[in-house]
Amino acid sequence: MSTKIGFIGLGIMGSPMAVNLQAAGFTVSGFNRTPAKSAALVAAGGRAAQSIAEAITDADVIALMLPDSPDVEIVVTGPGGVLEAAKPGALVIDFSTIRPDAAKALAAACADHGLTMLDAPVSGGETGAIEATLAIMVGGVAAGFERALSILQAVGKSVVHVGPSGSGQTVKAANQLIVAGNIQLVAEAIVLLRKRGVDPDAALDVIQGGLAGSTVLTRKRAAMLAHDFKPGFRLALHDKDLGIAIAAAREVGAVLPLTGAMGQLVTSTVSRGDGGLDHSALIRLVEDLSGIGEASESPGKIGDSEA
Ligand code: NAP
Repeated sequence: MSTKIGFIGLGIMGSPMAVNLQAAGFTVSGFNRTPAKSAALVAAGGRAAQSIAEAITDADVIALMLPDSPDVEIVVTGPGGVLEAAKPGALVIDFSTIRPDAAKALAAACADHGLTMLDAPVSGGETGAIEATLAIMVGGVAAGFERALSILQAVGKSVVHVGPSGSGQTVKAANQLIVAGNIQLVAEAIVLLRKRGVDPDAALDVIQGGLAGSTVLTRKRAAMLAHDFKPGFRLALHDKDLGIAIAAAREVGAVLPLTGAMGQLVTSTVSRGDGGLDHSALIRLVEDLSGIGEASESPGKIGDSEA
């Protein structure tokens, strides 16, 4: 009999992950608050449950892919949630990006109820979720990791057990500050190139071949140059993640000056109404600061006198 998985949260990431688990031979019952988002899972042969309890009641493994700590807390500890409805001994894999301390507390609450919970946040974006090539950073007990491995390998390519509960979320916080800083600097490079009249495409081709090359540059340059900001990864979620990183650093006296600055810049994008756009839209802020924003789209060469 194939392992039964109850999957809660079929959004941008959760939907393709649930589809890939079903395609890998697991039996997936998914629940999403907005029912229409269950369609892809159903088309792949999975089942759409009408409630969290219905999705997880028979499940050997419960997977969560939700936005933030309060969402995971309510789904795990709330009425009709995981602690109430899971069968004894079930394994809970939380793929969401949440606070490390929240992950640790939830794993302890699960253990008190005879459940094992892993924090297993992912990196690789929507493309990684669709292609089942996510990087997955796992915190929790080693025995839980062993039990989870075949599921993690069905959605991810690089799967690493990084330590006890909460460690996966700490690694994800580190990941997110690197990604934000990288996008910001690619955006700044593009604005510099445009203002100095250099073709950004040719420039980024050569930059990509040197030390400054990165996955961010490969994956995000086209969207940044074309101003195609359909998410992907919403700026509002990246704002949440930098808040997590800054708070986690503060707790242990780690001083991260550039992360602090990135936190301010990303919060600014959300405050000005860009929170629903992909994080590549950080370039809009950089362009505005340089006087080549929306009012002067496709600025090309601005002229030597302004450079
Ligand atoms: P998303 O598209 O907003 O999906 C979140 C899903 O959770 C939605 O389907 C939503 O249901 C559901 N949900 C929200 N609050 C809920 C609650 N309180 N109870 C039950 N269901 C709830 O977000 P996403 O982009 O998939 O991101 C999910 C997580 O993955 C986040 O922690 C994010 O930081 C992380 N992540 C995202 C990416 C990326 O590229 N997108 C990459 C790596 C990691 P509704 O449809 O009803 O709103």
